[in-house]
Amino acid sequence: MRPKWNLFFNCIKFRIKYKHKLVPVFYQSKRNRSDSLDVNFAEIPIERIRNFSIIAHVDHGKSTLADRLLELTGTIKKGQNQILDKLQVERERGITVKAQTASLLYKYNGDNYLLNLIDTPGHVDFSNEVSRSLSACQGVILLVDANDGVQAQTVANFYLAFVNNLVVIPVLNKIDLKNADPARVCNQLQTLFEINPNDVLKISAKLGIGIEDVLESIVTRIPCPSVDQTLPLRALIFDCMYDRYRGALNLIYVQDGSISIKDSITTFHNKKEYEVKTLSVLRPGEVPVDKLVAGQIGLLGCNMRSTKEAHIGDTIHHSNTPIEPLKGFRPSRPMVFAGIYPMDQSQHLHLRSAIDKLTLNDSAVTVDLDTSPALGQGWRLGFLGLLHLEVFTQRLTQEYGAEPIITAPSVTYKIKLKPTKQNVKDGSDIIFVNNPANFPEHVKIEETFEPMIIGTIVTPDRYLGPIMSLCMERRGIQRSANNIDNERVILQYDLPLCEVVLDFHDSLKTISSGYASFDYEDNGYQSSNLVKLAILLNGTLVDELSNIVHITKAKTIGRQMVLKLKDIVPRQMIHIAIQATVNGKIMARENIKAFRKDVTAKLYGGDVTRRMKLLAQQAAGKKKMRMVANISLPRETFIDVLKK
Ligand code: GDP
Ligand code: MG
Repeated sequence: MRPKWNLFFNCIKFRIKYKHKLVPVFYQSKRNRSDSLDVNFAEIPIERIRNFSIIAHVDHGKSTLADRLLELTGTIKKGQNQILDKLQVERERGITVKAQTASLLYKYNGDNYLLNLIDTPGHVDFSNEVSRSLSACQGVILLVDANDGVQAQTVANFYLAFVNNLVVIPVLNKIDLKNADPARVCNQLQTLFEINPNDVLKISAKLGIGIEDVLESIVTRIPCPSVDQTLPLRALIFDCMYDRYRGALNLIYVQDGSISIKDSITTFHNKKEYEVKTLSVLRPGEVPVDKLVAGQIGLLGCNMRSTKEAHIGDTIHHSNTPIEPLKGFRPSRPMVFAGIYPMDQSQHLHLRSAIDKLTLNDSAVTVDLDTSPALGQGWRLGFLGLLHLEVFTQRLTQEYGAEPIITAPSVTYKIKLKPTKQNVKDGSDIIFVNNPANFPEHVKIEETFEPMIIGTIVTPDRYLGPIMSLCMERRGIQRSANNIDNERVILQYDLPLCEVVLDFHDSLKTISSGYASFDYEDNGYQSSNLVKLAILLNGTLVDELSNIVHITKAKTIGRQMVLKLKDIVPRQMIHIAIQATVNGKIMARENIKAFRKDVTAKLYGGDVTRRMKLLAQQAAGKKKMRMVANISLPRETFIDVLKK
């Protein structure tokens, strides 16, 4: 019983010391507890603050290294794994979705240093989270797997850090592995980024080898933040999370001045005024503080109702002191859109509340209402990428028990309409379309554009052939090809986003047995011959099954869709013609023959029970059907066709 009581009394003591409302904070160890009470974070001088991030390709060991850093600084107990991955999907998939922050105290040469670690997600969909996190840092640990070597995201992340003028500490991880080849990877780093091999640290995050060196390098190589505590308050919102009881909580980096409880603050772009209710540092659980000073990173609670109010990149200042805003960064822009509909309309409310709650926490998702004749009331949601979409729908199911229908993901196309007096006058001659249902008739279109990306692929040279044909097939145009060392190549391609978004990554992994890696960056719009591939059932257009495609792909995709539909649409009383058309021209056609006769018609006289049974079956079957163009389609049809 005793330990429980201890915890209880400590919570009470804590509540007395910090007089504002507390959510229970559970301390993982005695050492941690004493840290949080003895050291006043606001008194650590700026020269002893380091803000850094770990960047790496996915699975190179960021989260594991973060665990070790937290352990060694006594922030958490030994043996807790992936402590910063809190979401269920993160733990299941072993990926980090949401960036997390932790403040560590490290004693170096007798002085306490405050190290603010920002764990970043590694997947390309979340590169925006990485760039946000970097804007609060002065240095990064560039972590590279000593076995895998430099990968596509290593390159992308390095350049992100480089353009942000951050100090890069190169670290090779997993040197315990049998096949680790540190010399080769050092060579790659030198060829690509001109990193001196003598500067490279070699560690094993799993076994805890070399971690002390990493901490020491953070202190000695990364500069302290260049901030001024005497200026008026300026703080950058670089992330945001949602708490059921306290609303939106902002992760802030204090650039100038200081912020205290009860201060009256205003967000620069939103122009809304708030009172500071709670301030805390993350270790990685919340530890309340009364004040945050320039150079520090912490969590701010000020009764914001949703994360939509907290604009990432916005600057916070004291309400009565005007300031110049900090340079904000690019807000996240959704790349992939999909319709989400409830299985049946009785679940509409449930799904709506689930989506509302999830988006409270994920401000990158955009939500618009959408209705479809076949699927009913639903939403069109925008995501950062396909993984983001998958993670979102997985969370809908896992955390809220919702089972939505998801339509085929689409990107946003730009369309220039033929000029008319009206549209030239009000500027509506350029429109953006992400839903095939809204694609204008071809006679009204002057020109169509599609979003492009620059893709970076790193691969062992033995897979070069198949990878180049994959890129060709996806309408890619090569920009460059260079050797990293004598067996690895880095390729750059211009590719249309829609060709990449769906399954490019999977195909690349398959043809290279998992060895090639891929990353991409946005590269604006390019003129392209796009058409709407319409699907017609007995001459009636079914927009839920239609698609926007490149003209050269229309025939192949049309053929596939039609064959697939022929397989899954059940035979009925009437003849069904399935057609795929482009601008009224038929690309592919299949027929489903009608049943010859009503099977129940023959059953008369004594066979009443059988007749009843058949009629009942037919009635039950009909219930689950949707009437589309006088044809009853099972609801699953939509899902089956859309599952590619
Ligand atoms: P992240 O995706 O970059 O966060 O990578 P994780 O930290 O999740 O690590 C990916 C995998 O690599 C996990 O299975 C870890 O156990 C493993 N791993 C991480 N560091 C080491 C290491 O030093 N040695 C070995 N052998 N495995 C490691
Ligand atoms: Mg991770």
